[in-house]
Amino acid sequence: MSVTVVGSVNEDVLVAVGRLPGRGETVVGREAVLAPGGKGANQAAAAGRLAGPGVAMVGRVGDDPAAERQRAALVDAGVDTALVLATPGHPTGSATIPVEDGSGENLIVVVPGANAALTPEDVDVPAVRRAAVVLLQLEVPLATVQAAADAASGTVVLTPAPPQPLPPELLQRVTVLVPNEHELVQLAGADPAPRTPAELAALARTLGAAASVVTLGARGALVVPEDGPVLLQEPPPVEAVDTTGAGDCFCGALGAALARGADLAGAVREAVAAAALSTTGPGARGALPDAAAVADALP
Ligand code: ATP
Repeated sequence: MSVTVVGSVNEDVLVAVGRLPGRGETVVGREAVLAPGGKGANQAAAAGRLAGPGVAMVGRVGDDPAAERQRAALVDAGVDTALVLATPGHPTGSATIPVEDGSGENLIVVVPGANAALTPEDVDVPAVRRAAVVLLQLEVPLATVQAAADAASGTVVLTPAPPQPLPPELLQRVTVLVPNEHELVQLAGADPAPRTPAELAALARTLGAAASVVTLGARGALVVPEDGPVLLQEPPPVEAVDTTGAGDCFCGALGAALARGADLAGAVREAVAAAALSTTGPGARGALPDAAAVADALP
């Protein structure tokens, strides 16, 4: 089995505040905590925790202390970091996130740093060409995402986040597109009205990827295969305390299951269980489950 993730590696700076600042306003934070982040690295860590060997990350970090911390966090999750390249003259990507006490509401300021320097040449490598599954998101340059999709010979899974218009050449290379409801509506150019599962599936089928999985937060995920019936997979019951990164855990788990040979519906069943468990602890990687925990929690 092999999963290669091409994407962002960030260091998150979580700042606890009594109240989020308004425009032009200063508020004093209570404490700042460093946490591993970046959609790409979060997906790799989730897959690594579940699958162990055979998960690799392709990305760029700076030549600063954050780079070492982020490599170490990936290694700790069982991810091969040989292709997490040092980028002299660039800082490691970061996200500064004030989080309001009580409500948990946040603001996010991302500085891409070295992520913006990941080139199409960097991803035209055997780890991408030969992987059973390649996981992609949109926190590195679009030309690099396209190059990775073009180089891949296995299953290509794309999380279209942060949302942006996508060229048909990219969508044609995607085996499974994994938008949340909001990203799906934006990609389809539709208005943000509430929709039934059948309506969401119809929208997803207009986008041009072979299959889609629409994530629906606490309601689970909608499997929209290339042809055949649409399936709503509900999550097991959990006490969710922090849903940050649930979508990333979902994609990492989906990739690990597909690489092992699961069919799309079976892989989504595992991914909803893994993502539900990930919401039971703090931050994007505070509660990433292993395979035994997912097996116990399968809906
Ligand atoms: P995020 O941006 O927080 O990473 P997202 O908006 O990309 O998430 P969601 O649809 O909110 O994606 O969540 C992804 C998946 O995580 C869902 O399909 C579901 O399986 C799981 N999940 C999210 N929230 C909950 C919850 N409260 N309880 C159980 N499972 C959840």
